[in-house]
Amino acid sequence: MKVAVVGGGLAGLSAAIRLRADGHNVTVYEKNERAGGKLNIREGNGYSFDTGPSILTMPWVLEKLFASAGRKLSDYVEIMRVEPQWRSIFEDGTTIDMSGDLPTMVAELEKISHNDSAALFDYLSYSYKQYELCMKSFYAKSISGLSELRSHHSLRELLAMDPLKTVNQATKSFFDDARIQQMFDFLVMYVGSSPYHSPAILSQLAHVQMGLGIYYVKGGMYNIARGMLRLLEELEVPVQTNAKVAKIEHTNGKATGLTLESGETVYADLIVSNLEAIPAYQSVLADVPQAKQETKKLEKFNPTVSGLVMLLGVDREYSQFTHHNFFFSRNPQLEFSQIYDEEVPADDPTVYVGISSKSDPSQAPEGCENWFILTHVPPLKSGESWEQHRTRYRELVLDKLERMGASELRKHIVFEYQFIPDDLQSLYGSNGGSIYGVAADKKRNGGFKIPSRSALLSNLYFVGGSTHPGGGVPMVTLSGQLTADLIKNDLKNQSIKNA
Ligand SMILES: Cc1cc2nc3c(=O)[nH]c(=O)nc-3n(C[C@H](O)[C@H](O)[C@H](O)COP(=O)(O)OP(=O)(O)OC[C@H]3O[C@@H](n4cnc5c(N)ncnc54)[C@H](O)[C@@H]3O)c2cc1C
Repeated sequence: MKVAVVGGGLAGLSAAIRLRADGHNVTVYEKNERAGGKLNIREGNGYSFDTGPSILTMPWVLEKLFASAGRKLSDYVEIMRVEPQWRSIFEDGTTIDMSGDLPTMVAELEKISHNDSAALFDYLSYSYKQYELCMKSFYAKSISGLSELRSHHSLRELLAMDPLKTVNQATKSFFDDARIQQMFDFLVMYVGSSPYHSPAILSQLAHVQMGLGIYYVKGGMYNIARGMLRLLEELEVPVQTNAKVAKIEHTNGKATGLTLESGETVYADLIVSNLEAIPAYQSVLADVPQAKQETKKLEKFNPTVSGLVMLLGVDREYSQFTHHNFFFSRNPQLEFSQIYDEEVPADDPTVYVGISSKSDPSQAPEGCENWFILTHVPPLKSGESWEQHRTRYRELVLDKLERMGASELRKHIVFEYQFIPDDLQSLYGSNGGSIYGVAADKKRNGGFKIPSRSALLSNLYFVGGSTHPGGGVPMVTLSGQLTADLIKNDLKNQSIKNA
């Protein structure tokens, strides 16, 4: 079969590898000059920055992808564990280092609260159970909703998912100290969702982080994309860059090919869209009958947070910080309520600072540091621009960092580049500049994502953060693989029907 993949983000590249390994004739069409999507790079004044993901979790997903094409991940990408995992910094001066080393983690919590330190074991066991349940269903199959989930689990297992609780309620049931609760709650930002709205099953992210470890890719995270592109070249899969898809052609409920912005048309038997489902229905699929109605049905799948990204070349070293640092807000409930409920930038946001030069000196000149600063903000509403907040929010973030230990940071900035939600939207086509696709919301969507199989065209599938199993590097890479499984199964069923 001739398969066209719209978009060369990690999900599109992952789907292309798997579909090629399954014997299809695959081509990837990417609108930007470089594939990788949100996983990307920028360089300046001797500094290198990953512009998107900086923390890699669940590396087994990448290993599985490379193995599906008969390769070993380690021959393409060099990953290294990061310890301590995060430095959590609070306004009252408290710091807690998250660690995958149990005695270290216990000692860190013991500094704050003996009871909470003792509760860690029960919390990790709960988190591990949630993760194991997901390995049976969410991480094994492309799931379209609750009825499909039920078919993979006994009633006992479904109840063990703690369906009545949110992440925050689960965290609070183990820990008393507000700072410790805030730190563990924040793990759910790996998938861009609020701990006050997302289902408790996402408490598994504690096991993902502390049980499985967090990783950095030597030479920069973009080497993940480079590794996938090298594999695709070996598999003879063309990845066309500067090739924006303007329209998905179709007839009688079936996709027939693509028209590129250049005017070129391409025939395809099957299409995989790495462009998120809602923006796809509003652009490249806008003329499909029922596209508007389908978009309306998908309204329960809100975009996740977007972000203000600041890349700073700093001409000194700050020894008090580690590779990954979280500068927490004073009041997480207010912070999340402003971002997710009121949909305004938080007055006092949590700020993430990644300094990869701490683990990899090749990323900054000697004696200097490459600061990647991410502050989550609400996604854009239709027609909205974030330009109005840019200057004020930059100052607010820098004030917070200087107040919480980065003394005279402003004086030491020798390179600066920013991405605002408008950039994330226009660069990657994401809904409202969403970073992680679709938000997990217990009430609105039960934590499910948009089904991978399109409801409108029988041979169109979606991959990436808006579809199952969701956002973040491991999840979108898994979505490419699970969608390839789904396609394989659909083709098998079709040939049985046709026989
Ligand atoms: C600032 C930031 C920090 C992050 N931090 C982390 C982290 O630490 N850890 C983590 O796991 N995840 C992190 N993420 C999330 C992670 O980067 C994403 O979940 C993941 O990379 C998304 O991959 P994707 O393939 O779903 O989408 P994308 O990467 O958005 O890929 C979609 C691709 O489709 C292309 N495209 C769109 N429209 C068209 C068209 N019409 N024609 C052709 N091509 C088109 C786009 O150019 C893009 O390349 C972060 C993201 C950002 C932005």
